[in-house]
Amino acid sequence: KSKAVATPKRTKEILETYGFSFKKSLGQNFLIDVNILRNIIEHAGIDEEAAAIEIGPGIGALTEQLAQHADRVVAFEIDQRLVPILDETLQDYSNVTIINEDILQADVENVIAEHFKEGQPIRVVANLPYYITTPILMKLLMDRLPVDSITVMIQKEVAERMAAKPNSKSYGSLSIAVQYYTEAAVVMNVPKTVFMPQPNVDSSVLHLEMRKQPPVEVDDEEFFFNLVQATFGQRRKTLMNNLARHFKGSLEKEEIRAKLEAAEIDPKRRGESLSMQEFATLAHHFYQKLH
Ligand code: SAM
Repeated sequence: KSKAVATPKRTKEILETYGFSFKKSLGQNFLIDVNILRNIIEHAGIDEEAAAIEIGPGIGALTEQLAQHADRVVAFEIDQRLVPILDETLQDYSNVTIINEDILQADVENVIAEHFKEGQPIRVVANLPYYITTPILMKLLMDRLPVDSITVMIQKEVAERMAAKPNSKSYGSLSIAVQYYTEAAVVMNVPKTVFMPQPNVDSSVLHLEMRKQPPVEVDDEEFFFNLVQATFGQRRKTLMNNLARHFKGSLEKEEIRAKLEAAEIDPKRRGESLSMQEFATLAHHFYQKLH
């Protein structure tokens, strides 16, 4: 087999051979360290049973490692210039399919049905383009795709926000949104030096294990998420203040105070101190009043 793609020397060679120039607008920062890639694959739980979905294979650094360790790999790449390069770097692997599509437009469910075996664990593994991290992850979660886990390299601050617990400075509506669907953990911090070109931000690997059931019961998910977002609206303001703004025109201050009392939540608290369960209780009391 040919030498690993993810070394500085081989990556430079490939880029030169094809006259490839990085597109910043597509978040192209390629990994040039095989050890980091193997660690990612281990944290992702990739084994010979697994089906892997990759988003943004680039020149195939991670794809190649996935092909070696997983049963099947499907990778979505938006940049057409990379397709002939991937054809060459992955020519030794018959278990890889490259799809030249924008992941945000792709019919992932259909691709899963077409390429993977029934009952096989499906794991998303990617070094994501940072400019669209949140839209990609929210698409994967909200479309309720039959995926078992998601392991992604993303900007460190975003990884921390997604995995944050109450009363930490990173905790916010994004933490609730992600943890409603998954159990989230930051599993690795990664230095800038393992990318070509080096990004301006620090990176971490986030592991999301999909929940079979949401951890709390809510009457209406959209109502719940909107209310959570509102309580974090102005971080230094109290629940009472943020809720008064959110329900302006539909609820009087006194009604809001009564709801908080019924939910046994102190109106002087701030959103950042509420657990997911407390948000669910709160949402339930307001939902009843308004529906
Ligand atoms: N996986 C490679 C690696 O680790 O070396 C490349 C990672 S690079 C951070 C992100 C990749 O995502 C680039 O190849 C870029 O072209 C691709 N990409 C950007 N936007 C995309 C989108 N909307 N859909 C699919 N791929 C996208």
